[in-house]
Amino acid sequence: MTDNTCCKRLRIGDVSPFEIVMLGWYDGLHNGMASCRTCGLAYNFEMLAWDSERETRIYGFRQVSRGSYDAIAVLAALPSPEPAQLRDRLDKMAVLLRDSLASSLEWNLYIKSTDLSKEILTAKYIDFSTWNSILSSSENGRVS
Ligand SMILES: [Zn+2]
Repeated sequence: MTDNTCCKRLRIGDVSPFEIVMLGWYDGLHNGMASCRTCGLAYNFEMLAWDSERETRIYGFRQVSRGSYDAIAVLAALPSPEPAQLRDRLDKMAVLLRDSLASSLEWNLYIKSTDLSKEILTAKYIDFSTWNSILSSSENGRVS
């Protein structure tokens, strides 16, 4: 069955449809939340691989509920807490993130980008059956 959701059918060079909430940074965007401006679907994403310059990155996306995205976006938009409240803020964020992932679906959207909020270099929707055929098509099943 083909899923025609806009953000699951991104094309090479598309302008990014995503609003990004950055949660982790490592020389660049590492992980966070994304919301599609067009259809409103919300995702958690993590960097899975990068090139030798660490500029071009591949991210895995998994869908989360709209409500959990909104709660995280609201908390992330608050001004930085005083040092004494930092621990409390981090704990709250960790709980919201855990809750959002508790109901999340599998990783199935893979996006290559240098800036997720600006441009999509490549994107592919890879569900279980696609992964299964990728892994099953290797010559002798060995990992080289
Ligand atoms: Zn969308």
